[in-house]
Amino acid sequence: MSSYAFSRRLDAGGKIRVSFEFFPPKTDDMERRLRDTLRRLAPLEPSFVSVTYGAGGSTRERSLHTVRHIVEETHLDAAAHLTCVDADRSSVDAVIREYAAMGVKRFVALRGDPTEGVGAAYRPHPDGYTNGAELTAALSRHGDFDISVSAYPEKHPESPDFATEIEMLKRKVDNGATRAITQFFFDNDVYERYVERVRRAGIYIPIVPGILPVQNFRQMVRFAGSCGAHVPAWLAERFHGLEDDPETHRLVAAAVAAEQVLDLMERGVYDFHFYTMNRADLVFAICHMIGIRPVRASMQSAAA
Ligand code: FAD
Repeated sequence: MSSYAFSRRLDAGGKIRVSFEFFPPKTDDMERRLRDTLRRLAPLEPSFVSVTYGAGGSTRERSLHTVRHIVEETHLDAAAHLTCVDADRSSVDAVIREYAAMGVKRFVALRGDPTEGVGAAYRPHPDGYTNGAELTAALSRHGDFDISVSAYPEKHPESPDFATEIEMLKRKVDNGATRAITQFFFDNDVYERYVERVRRAGIYIPIVPGILPVQNFRQMVRFAGSCGAHVPAWLAERFHGLEDDPETHRLVAAAVAAEQVLDLMERGVYDFHFYTMNRADLVFAICHMIGIRPVRASMQSAAA
């Protein structure tokens, strides 16, 4: 990479938008860690931070609690994920109302995975919303929300082909989705081809790449297998032999994700959603690499 290209990327600093995804913690220790993570990442001024929602409402209370903490205790804009799994419409609607009463204006609308686990046949609740598109419509009926939906550059495992995949995205947009966030991927060409397909279908909402800094390569491979994300051989090679060397694993993970993000910026992408796994260090380092600095620190250096 030439130094000219690199400084051009840093010049883009003002244009870059990031959002961070968290999951609701299960234990007091995990809760403390999430709060530390939020404290570390908040000064990076993300456009929003989102909190996932477990299948069948299994994390309902914890998700609500985590979102409430963000709304009441931080200056961050919270987005609540919501799923359709094993819930009738009235209970999903009740959760929407509860979030709205807290002041939440952003949602990530998802169908969710079957409670029996990824790979089992999905059976919608007989009185429930059947997929992300129907849930998006329900959210639009409830208020003037900013609604994100999922997108799959490598196709959702249940989609027979890309035409079906993109048809589903189109239904979500027609029902009020304002942004799609992708499943994680490692091959930027795959993302670019997907966005081309989406645009050819007349869909113009932002398709925000979901970036997964690899906290644990082995775990990531298992997870990627279940959600249809391809792990390229070159990526396996980068992490090969680091199973018992967490320090180097972390450095490699930061380098790999920063490289992916910088390459996407070269392709004109300036909006990124990070799957943080509730950890700050990798995401903070990657943001630093792309020119996103804590607001207070940059004000101090400007004053110096
Ligand atoms: P949808 O987009 O509704 O459907 C997935 C695919 O199934 C479609 O692309 C389509 O091909 C097919 N399909 C569904 N319904 C129909 C139909 N009626 N006719 C034809 N085809 C159909 N999971 C959680 O449990 N909690 C979370 O908080 C969460 N957050 C996520 C955030 C992001 C950004 C992403 C990308 C995924 C997230 N997931 C989460 C995972 C997600 O729930 C799973 O990938 C799930 O299998 C699909 O949910 P969806 O909303 O993408 O489904």
